[in-house]
Formats: sequence, structure tokens, C-alpha cells
Amino acid sequence: MAGVIRRLDETVVNRIAAGEVIQRPANAIKEMIENCLDAKSTSIQVVVKEGGLKFIQVQDNGCGIRKEDLDIVCERFTTSKLQKFEDLASISTYGFRGEALASISHVAHVTVTTKTADAKCAYRAVYSDGKIKGPPKPCAGNQGTQITVEDLFYNVNTRRKALKNPSEEYAKIVEVVSRYAIHNSGISFSVKKQGDTMSDVRTLSNASTVDNIRSIFGNAVSRELIEVGCEDASLAFKMKGYITNANYSVKKCIFLLFINHRLVESAALRKAIETVYAAYLPKSTHPFLYLSLEIAPQNVDVNVHPTKHEVHFLHEDSILEHVQRHVENKLLGSNSSRMYFTQTLLPGADCSSSEVVKSAANSSAVTKGTSDKVYAHQMVRTDSREQKLDAFLQPVNNPLSTGPTEGTTEVNARPPEGVDRPQDAEMEDVSDVVEVADVQDTVVPGGLSESGHLSPETVPPRKKPRKDVDVEMEEDDTRKDMTAACTPKRRIINLTSVLTLQEEISNQAHANLQEMLHDHSFVGCVSPQWALAQYQTKLYLLNTTKLSQELFYQILIYDFANFGVLRLSEPAPLYQLSMLALENPESGWTEEDGPKEGLAEYIVEFLKKKSEMLKDYFSLEIDEEGNLTGLPLLIDNYVPPLEGLPIFILRLATEVNWDEEKECFESLSKELAMFYSIRKQYIIDEANPTDSQNEDSDSGSTTWKWTVEHILYKAFRTHLLPPKHFAEDGNILQLANLPDLYKVFERC
Ligand code: ADP
Ligand code: MG
Repeated sequence: MAGVIRRLDETVVNRIAAGEVIQRPANAIKEMIENCLDAKSTSIQVVVKEGGLKFIQVQDNGCGIRKEDLDIVCERFTTSKLQKFEDLASISTYGFRGEALASISHVAHVTVTTKTADAKCAYRAVYSDGKIKGPPKPCAGNQGTQITVEDLFYNVNTRRKALKNPSEEYAKIVEVVSRYAIHNSGISFSVKKQGDTMSDVRTLSNASTVDNIRSIFGNAVSRELIEVGCEDASLAFKMKGYITNANYSVKKCIFLLFINHRLVESAALRKAIETVYAAYLPKSTHPFLYLSLEIAPQNVDVNVHPTKHEVHFLHEDSILEHVQRHVENKLLGSNSSRMYFTQTLLPGADCSSSEVVKSAANSSAVTKGTSDKVYAHQMVRTDSREQKLDAFLQPVNNPLSTGPTEGTTEVNARPPEGVDRPQDAEMEDVSDVVEVADVQDTVVPGGLSESGHLSPETVPPRKKPRKDVDVEMEEDDTRKDMTAACTPKRRIINLTSVLTLQEEISNQAHANLQEMLHDHSFVGCVSPQWALAQYQTKLYLLNTTKLSQELFYQILIYDFANFGVLRLSEPAPLYQLSMLALENPESGWTEEDGPKEGLAEYIVEFLKKKSEMLKDYFSLEIDEEGNLTGLPLLIDNYVPPLEGLPIFILRLATEVNWDEEKECFESLSKELAMFYSIRKQYIIDEANPTDSQNEDSDSGSTTWKWTVEHILYKAFRTHLLPPKHFAEDGNILQLANLPDLYKVFERC
């Protein structure tokens, strides 16, 4: 028997429609925030109870609602923003269809309290099912509007049951408010739970976009931001925003996308950008992205349903491609976090060497304009991270995907910050001062304790370096780059000696090798000392020890007097370090040198006298008792092999030319670089299982391989100007060239 078709009761229709528009508290809050923004508010405060299911209050200081409009604000299709259909194309307000308040009032109890500038007092009205319940009542109130929504979905049983987790709902609310807060710098936002004194998100009206990103997503994100921006008149779009550089990665992509100021989603755009990052970030990790696109209104369908966050627009493919290209360019051009010596060492900086004759293949790649550059994402590529040699040699145990084992005592077992704990502010803030393992534990075999954690602790930031004639503080506004804005002021070095050393490095640079290092694909580690890399059709064998030594030397010279500190968890007595060194046959000590104790005492006294300079220029800290307390932080997440410390201290006192300024800085940096370089014995110690379950010492060996690939070779890309002699002394060797190999096979 056929069912009888009846017209649905109007309130039922409205309730169904409302349930579609308002699916959860966060939707309601998004709509209300957009109304506040439409009303030109500069302060928007959200208070909720039970994840918004019990109570939502949104208070603004905008233009308010006129008393005579209060009767109908909650009816469907009442709006002050749109009159004719044609207006849709040029609409600049968020709202236009007058559906939000109506919908909310069909599924909750709504109270509006509002005052316009010229009204003598505020008015309050209560609504139910779109209708006002009684005439507006005069009351006290400031200019603006306060809307409260109580018992959301009280009349929609199924929806209420589906949303039974208030903390999940609250998380969504915080997400929506934070995103609007970031997009609308200049307007202060706050969101908190009713009864709490502290807001969970709070931005100030004078804060910048980056300030807001910092306060919401933390320093780890904000200090790695690159500002982006591009536009194309023919495609009628503009894009701006901030994205993280290749130093930052998280397990889940954070993508804040606004199109014409609406928070939306675009799977296509997300994919386009993620493809670019895939070539730069460790496997299965993702960037933070905040992008604001403005597209000519006639090209975007704004008339989508309020719950349709996924947008499409005209010329979508071309716009995506344009944005993608821009992002890739920015990523390539951005130097890694610390800006060690960006100004001089940026790829593309002039380091032409006249005698270098480029091969045909190379020069075509170099001379091609940027417009027809082959971008990583356009190449057909197998995932190099899965194709590496060591993938075949040992079980996969990538510290990045698994995180360090609990209680590990290896000093470099920690993956880069931001990978596992992206929003852990405590972790992030100490990047300039990192505590390293107790030197004694590491140096003395079978040391006293196993307490040698690389345990970051909140240490006050490095105090401002003193001013002197040769060292100035860089003015903030001389840097356009965002990363710089977030890092402490940098001291400009005017010391002739240092400038000369910098020049010597750049004069020695081999342009082709630099290009190779910059664009190489890492193949795998052969040993701690040697690694394989591919560039174009060639396979290279590289001496990681020598390259890392050169890298550290260059960082020391280019970032002179601008280092963070690696703080030792316990001060290491220079006396004992010197004694250890003298006992090592490597030191070359003989009876003729006199008693070791006397020499050690002399070394301590000598280095103490130099401590002020060592600290100021090299962040090498020695306390008054003659203990070493800090070492320079040269690259994030890299701790020098500490068993080399005794010999380093000995050589510091004996091998450095302390008399001439330039020679002093040069030899001192060389000694430090040697100590920092990655070496064999380091690996042997590393592989010593400290954890009984780790009999096969896999984690140890994965750790150094990980460091070599993700810390050292990553730094080589942007921070190393390879000297010409590397091409001749076998430190960089070309092993094979694909076209030649083809010829070999042809003969077979
Ligand atoms: P729309 O935003 O599409 O116009 P809404 O249902 O969201 O529809 O709002 C209906 C009307 O109520 C708006 O057009 C506006 O005039 C008024 N309104 C809602 N919230 C505010 C507010 N916070 N401040 C001022 N006016 C508001
Ligand atoms: Mg609205």
C-alpha cells in the first residue's frame, strides 16, 4: 500500500534544514564569529560550557542590531547584507543568506542582547523556532552584540546523542576560533570554558599574524615560517600567507585555508602543496600552512551550502599550479632555521669560479631561466626514502617514525624538535640552549651513571651579547625574512679578520659542487665516514667526515659570535679533561714535556684567561672554577661526538695561534670543526648498546645514519660552500654516470 504523501509541518522542515546547517557547536560558533566580523567588531569573545552543547556565548563590540530588526533577525532569509541576486557576485560580507541565526534558533534557545551606537540602551530578545518570544526588553549593555545559545539540539535527539563528547567538541571550537584569530590579526579573539579564568586562545588586537601563529601553534612553528605571496591578474587571484620551511615537520598537516576570508577546505590545493613538501620533508611528515586566497568573487561559487567547506573555483588547475610553483620557489630559497649565513650562502648567490667549465648537461640546467626550471614535484620519482641502500641492508628502524625509545641515553637519539611534539612549547623554547649529556658519562668508559640524557630544560635564553665597536646588533627592519623576525637579533660582525676569512671561503667555493650538494638525492651511508649521493645522472661518493668538518668551520666563520649554547648537564672540569687527553697516546705526550698534572694545571689557567672571548665569540663557556659548561650550538639537533672533548681541550691550548687575531679565529674554528665533525670512533661508541634489549645495536646505528642523512646532508644542501679542492682530493668522487653505464650495458 502506498504511503500517503503529506506536507511536512513547517517547524519540522525548519528543524531538518537547521540540522543541516548547524551540525555541531563549532559550526554555530563559526557562523556567529562571521556575523561579528560582518558587524566590524574588533573584539570577539567566546565562552562555552560542555563543549558548546550546554551553552555558547559570543560577545562582540560591533555595530549592533537595530531594535526594529530584532523581531525578525532569527527568521529564515532575513539579512541586512544582500538584497538582489546580482549582489551575490560582489558580496564582501560573510553572511548573505540570513540562515545562520534562524537555523540556530530552531535547534536551541537563543538570546540576543545588542546595542547600536545611537540607541540609548541595549535590548534583549529571546527566540525559539525562528520567532521572537515577546517584545525586546530594554536593558543595560555596551555597544555590540551578545548572542547566547543554550541547550543546542535539545529537540534533535539523534544529533544530541551523536555529539556526546564535549571535549572533542570543545577542541573543534578552539580550532575554529584560532583559525579565525590568525586570519584576522587586528581583531582580538578569545575562547574559554565558562567558569575558567584563563582563555584557551587569546589574541590581542595589536598582534601580527606571526604573533598569533606563535601564541596558538607555538614557537616551533612560528620561528620556521616563510612569508609567501603571489598574484596573477589574468587568473584574477591573490595569495598570501605563511608556511613552514623544510626544518619543520609534523605528523599531521596543519592547513589553515581561507578563500575570500572564509575558512574552507580544498583537497586539491592541499595535495598540490603537500606534493612539493614531500620532496623536502622526512617521510610521512607534513608542514604547517596558512594561506589566504582572494579570488575574484565571480569566479568562486560563494553560494555553496554553509556546511560545504570544500570549495571549487574557476581556473582551479592554473591557480593551483601557480601557488604550487610559488611555494616550491620559496622553499628552495629559504635557508634553514638559524640563518647562519644566509646572506652570503644562499643558493644562487654569486660564487662563480672562472676556471670551472660546466659540462653540457650541467650548464643547461644552470642557464635555464627560473620559468622552465624542473621542480621536484614535476619529476617522475621513485621515493628515494624507500629506495636507499640501507633499506636493503638492515631492518627499517627510522627514529622519525617511531620516536626515540624511552629512556635512551644516546645524546643524539632525539629526533628534531617539532617532529614528535609539535606543540610542546617547553621543548621548543630551549632550542638555543640545549643541555647535553654529562661529559663524564660519555668520556669515561663505563662512567659513573647512565644519567646522560639530552634533557632539554627551560633555560633562560642566551643573554644579549654586549655591544662593541666591531660587533653591532642588526636592526630588525633590515630583514624582510620572517624567520629572522622570530629569531633574536643577530650581531653583525665587522671584524676585518672574520670578514677576510669569510671571503676566503667564498673565493674557494666550487659552484658545480655546490649545486650538486644543493640538489643531491641522498642514497645511503656506506660507513660513518662515507656516503653515496646522486645528482642528475651521476653517483657520488662523499667523505662525510671532511664535509662535515668543512661545514662546521664555515658555520663558525659565517655565524661568528651568533651561536646558541649546548649546555652540559654537569660542568666538565678542564683539569680532568686535560688529564684524559694527556693519557691518550694520540696526544703525543712524552716524559720531556714534564709531568701531566703540571701541564693540565697550566691548560686550565691558560683557557680560563681566554674564557671571556671564547664565550662571547664562540659560545664556549668556561666557569670560574675552570669547568667547561657550554659548547656552541652549530646546527640544531647535532651534538658533537663528546669523546673527542679531551683532545679538543688539549689542542685548544696547544694548537691554536693565540697571538694574531685572524689566525686565532681561523685555527680555533678549525679545532672546533674537527671536534664537531662526524667520525668513526663516535659511531663505535654510539653503537654500544646501553639498553639490554638492544643486543644487535640497531638503534645505535640507525641513529648515526639518521643524523648523517637528516642533519648533516640536509645542512650541506644550504650551509656548505664546498671548496674546490674537494673535487680533486677525493673527498667528493664521481663513481658512475648513467649514460656511461648504458654504454657498458650496450656492449654486453
Ligand atoms: P547573514 O549573516 O547571512 O545575514 P545571519 O542569520 O547570520 O544571516 O544573521 C542575520 C542578521 O542578523 C544579519 O544579517 C545581521 O543583520 C544580524 N546580525 C547577526 N549577528 C550579528 C552581530 N553579531 N552583530 C550585528 N548584527 C548581527
Ligand atoms: Mg551570518
